[in-house]
Amino acid sequence: MKTVAIVGGGIAGIAAAIRLSQAGMKPIVLETRRKLGGRATSFVDPRTGKLLDNCQHVAMGCCVNLLDFYQRLGVLDRMQWHKETYWANPPHAPDVMRAGWLPAPAQFTGSFLRMRMISLKDKVAIAFAMFKLLRMGYAGREHWRGRVFLDFLRDTGQTERAIERFWEPVVVSACNLPSSRVDAPFAMKVFQEGFLSHRFASAMVLSTVALLDLYDPAEAMIRQAGGEVRLGVSVQAIAFDGARVTGVVTDEGLVQASAVIAAVPFDRLVKLCSPTLQAADERLRGIDGIATSPILGVHLVYEKIILDQPHLVLPARATQWLFNKGVDEAGRQHIHAVISAADQWMDLDENEITRRVRADIEWACPRAQGLAPIEVRSVKEKRATFAAVPGFEALRPGPRPRASGGVDNLILAGDWCDTGWPATMEGAVRSGYSAADALTHLDSLQTELPVALLARVAGLG
Ligand SMILES: Cc1cc2nc3c(=O)[nH]c(=O)nc-3n(C[C@H](O)[C@H](O)[C@H](O)COP(=O)(O)OP(=O)(O)OC[C@H]3O[C@@H](n4cnc5c(N)ncnc54)[C@H](O)[C@@H]3O)c2cc1C
Repeated sequence: MKTVAIVGGGIAGIAAAIRLSQAGMKPIVLETRRKLGGRATSFVDPRTGKLLDNCQHVAMGCCVNLLDFYQRLGVLDRMQWHKETYWANPPHAPDVMRAGWLPAPAQFTGSFLRMRMISLKDKVAIAFAMFKLLRMGYAGREHWRGRVFLDFLRDTGQTERAIERFWEPVVVSACNLPSSRVDAPFAMKVFQEGFLSHRFASAMVLSTVALLDLYDPAEAMIRQAGGEVRLGVSVQAIAFDGARVTGVVTDEGLVQASAVIAAVPFDRLVKLCSPTLQAADERLRGIDGIATSPILGVHLVYEKIILDQPHLVLPARATQWLFNKGVDEAGRQHIHAVISAADQWMDLDENEITRRVRADIEWACPRAQGLAPIEVRSVKEKRATFAAVPGFEALRPGPRPRASGGVDNLILAGDWCDTGWPATMEGAVRSGYSAADALTHLDSLQTELPVALLARVAGLG
């Protein structure tokens, strides 16, 4: 059996390991933490002893490889599908976006026309921009590479209100950057593939269990197939003999392998590669120039129910989303608030964070007014994701080196690699599958969401 050392037991590393073990190879997953899952995971809050997710992780119907990954792990039944998106519009009830009977790309027409948070003029402008996105197709968005998405919004005559209420909450949540900073094709991809391509592409998929519990089956699957999962083992260096990598050096000794998949974030990867290895592989150059963007997640417990919907978008507020995480036997509701691109929040203490988030919650949920949460736990992820700014795409390496030079048996994976996706679990799975592809020489292990007929006729795809 060909032995492959996989550095990192995040989603990319697990996805690669599962596909390699299914292809008859022997993956050895080396993960520095005592649990799998990387950034999409949970922790025990020392204040309360509760198992909390570091942050709400949202998938969508268009994340077909992530759904395939969950299916392989046997945890797809732990996902809940939400076909509606709720948009706060106080003092009225929230607006609801749901796919109606029309086929994609027109599935939202009815509910979009009924939304009250934006005017008819805004809706016409939004429809015009959506039409442009359709007509340009997937290839057309490459013409916008190097420009920010706000340029496109201005070009298509979007009003300030349409930008801050409709476009911005979607862009900032999906790309973890505002439209004034994100490289336009990333945001365009979200609307083209996540809204216009298929009637269920935008359905939200949320885990009903703690994220950590999703990865339990992975260890057993990998071990049963002859592979290994070593938790609490830190890789210190990737061993390189001047031509090929020969394994990894860990705090427990050398692990020899015929290939290495590095499935760690770019800043970690640089630390694992000697200057000689960096000089030998062009993919490793320049990646220390990749910037990151923070996310803040805040868990709050209220003594009574303040939010009826499963989730709520807060248009034009600093807090972008609220998630209803359930009600306990005593009637206390757990709310999770998410602030993406949270640069302005990183230096705030928990009291100030709570004050600001409470103001947004009280704005969106009248029943929360004057009601203090009985528990609060904020989780700052300063380096949550890469920043998909103009120029970033050119730095993304593929799993294998290009013909121009590199180390053939050093395979790269991770959400930051060249998947075309923003920093997402879907991107991480895709990169893991491509890494396995590079070693198994199978046809692509990735799946693509088919574009609906009418959307294709309109120009998408
Ligand atoms: C707060 C937050 C919210 C997010 N929300 C969403 C969301 O709603 N939807 C979505 O799709 N995505 C979301 N993401 C992004 C998503 O979590 C990531 O894209 C994905 O988990 C990345 O997986 P990965 O395997 O590429 O990297 P990672 O998860 O970073 O995995 C890398 C692993 O390598 C390990 N490692 C590092 N160095 C070493 C070493 N030297 N030796 C051994 N192991 C090592 C790390 O411990 C880690 O487990 C969010 C991320 C954050 C932080």
